Amino acid sequence: MTLSNSLAALDAAHHLHPFTDARVLEKNGPLIIDRGEGIHVYDTTGKKYIEGMAGLWSVAVGFNEKRLADAAYAQLLKLPYYHTFSAKGHEPSIRLSEKLAEIAPEGLSHVLYANSGSEGNDTVVKLVWYYNNALGRPEKKKFLARNNAYHGITMASGSLTGIVVDHKDFDLPILPVIHLTCPHFYKEGTADETEAQFTARLLAELEDTIAREGAETIAAFIGEPVMGAGGVIVPPEGYWPGVEAICRKHDILLVADEVINGFGRLGTPFGAERMGFTPDIMTVSKQITSSYMPLSAVVFSDAIYQAVADNSHKIGTFAHGFTAAGHPVATAVALENLKIIEERDLIGNAARLAPAFQAGMRALADSPIVGEARGVGMMAAVELSADKATKRPFAKPGQVGQIANAIAHEEGLILRAIGDTLALCPPLIVTEADVAEILRLMAVILERTAAEVAARGIK
Ligand code: PLP
Repeated sequence: MTLSNSLAALDAAHHLHPFTDARVLEKNGPLIIDRGEGIHVYDTTGKKYIEGMAGLWSVAVGFNEKRLADAAYAQLLKLPYYHTFSAKGHEPSIRLSEKLAEIAPEGLSHVLYANSGSEGNDTVVKLVWYYNNALGRPEKKKFLARNNAYHGITMASGSLTGIVVDHKDFDLPILPVIHLTCPHFYKEGTADETEAQFTARLLAELEDTIAREGAETIAAFIGEPVMGAGGVIVPPEGYWPGVEAICRKHDILLVADEVINGFGRLGTPFGAERMGFTPDIMTVSKQITSSYMPLSAVVFSDAIYQAVADNSHKIGTFAHGFTAAGHPVATAVALENLKIIEERDLIGNAARLAPAFQAGMRALADSPIVGEARGVGMMAAVELSADKATKRPFAKPGQVGQIANAIAHEEGLILRAIGDTLALCPPLIVTEADVAEILRLMAVILERTAAEVAARGIK
């Protein structure tokens, strides 16, 4: 071990990091973040970074919101823990359920809590299966998802995820899940196809899949309104309304995974609203507490609730739940966080700043190494390409992304390199000046990356 920083050495010795090459970490050590302030974080050497990813797409209100610390402390003093099993309850989870039902898309009025997005989506699978068993249709169990979707990494949510590396050597998927084409025109559209024809092809694929499998075997379609971890994929116009119409026709539940999109990321309260559809179920997490506390919620329709409630009565219990589900500290923090989002009109802020942010990102497509710039609201990405005209990716996937990532760190911007796609998702408290600074840094990072690619002859 040659790492001089003792924390780094300890980390490499004892801590297996998620989504990290362990051998590279042993050599280079982690970037250890020490403290946060507004949209910035500081590492242990005191270096300052703009957190252009809001952590993991999650810290809406910035990195030192005292009101959230106060809300947590007050709740810790009053009732640090209680559960919601066996007809017990506590005020923060009750108030948050009311709040979620108030702000959720039309018709979603019941809430079931978990602690992470992954657990939330596992809960969705179990809820949907329980619902269909309650209705006497035990064969209606398959899920439809999309390639490149990210729904988490637990056994069920990881199965719904459609990213190859997330399955590799984990023996996933284990669910009856069918992954459909990713709605990414740049990558999946053919040379002789318009975007509208591409959308029609994807909707035909959905219809054909349902016809082949039988609607009576398909329980639900799950999707992120706008995909995040798959590389910030904005589906084409008409895609989501088309999916919704087909699902309704075949009595297939529509699940919006709002874990990233929810609470204003796209400039609307929820991503489904921005993309023009109304789900039967949605999963929320991340920005619900600005990730100050772990929390997720599954918000669902009264029709689902009624069937589930009847079945729980028949069996004698709804035998699902987690020790910390709806945790009083987490739900108290969520309530305060949602209050701040409302008081400071952070959703409006996202809507107001989005045009400049998106236009600035699109302008980066002029870089010789950018194949596509895309995004909506306050999430965006540039996809790096070896050849703009043919859209050819670099020969070694992820290599140039990592070069750009390292340069970004040097320049004081944290972004997310997803293979060779550079993603941004800044905290919702960003100002116009912050957005301008992020765009300036992105231009510098791309220029330096292009120079490095040319110097090293990377093709
Ligand atoms: N769903 C989406 C859309 C996500 O982006 C994520 C995480 O990034 C998850 C689910 C899983 O959430 P968690 O990491 O909290 O399990």
